[in-house]
Amino acid sequence: MSEIATNLTLIRQQIDLVCQSCGRDPQSVRLLAVSKKKPATLIRDAYNAGQKLFGESYVQEFSQKAEELELPLEWHFIGGLQSNKVKYLCGKTALIHSVDRYSLAQEISTQWAKIGLTADILLQFNLGGEATKSGADESEALELAKRICALPHLRVRGLMALPPYFDDPEEVRPYFRRLRLLGEQLSAAQLPNLVIEELSMGMSHDFEVAIEEGATLVRVGTAIFGARD
Ligand SMILES: *Cc1c(COP(=O)(O)O)cnc(C)c1O
Repeated sequence: MSEIATNLTLIRQQIDLVCQSCGRDPQSVRLLAVSKKKPATLIRDAYNAGQKLFGESYVQEFSQKAEELELPLEWHFIGGLQSNKVKYLCGKTALIHSVDRYSLAQEISTQWAKIGLTADILLQFNLGGEATKSGADESEALELAKRICALPHLRVRGLMALPPYFDDPEEVRPYFRRLRLLGEQLSAAQLPNLVIEELSMGMSHDFEVAIEEGATLVRVGTAIFGARD
């Protein structure tokens, strides 16, 4: 068994265990393998170990690897995204996690309209108010969601957050909880084209806490592929 296969097996076991202990259906949590800065050969190893869902953060790197691999993978885009690069993702990604402003949503809608499809997106929030991280401000959530939901070729499927790093995952819990509550608030507004069925939160060192707080997509890189340089 490759090291990646072993890691994947371990993580899937951990996900099952946490789900059991907090009374969730393990099927309600999907593992997104974050393969940024890792070569296509390692993605192939993960695919051979049964992993189909991959997340990338850089447009050019994503395009190169997706083309090289020619595998029936489900790609999610999770990184900061410039509007002028949206066209390279069009029709190739199943979900964009990192939509944090109206102009970006507008461009996604425009590009997907050209291929006659509707893009699935998540709204990303910067819950820690960190200057170095992308994500919309919580205080503008409803206003932003209303404007984005009015775009014709988009569906908002949920929320994403990249909370501040803490050594102790317990300290991240309040952020995960806040994202879930924000999702409930937005759901209550009953906007068209918005269904909060995904919460993308939790990474290698805190995905278990994220699952306890309702994560449906955990974005795990290092724990699968090893440290990035
Ligand atoms: C890199 C990255 C991850 C994965 O982080 P790990 O700590 O390696 O699991 C998850 N989410 C986003 C947005 C990332 O950029």
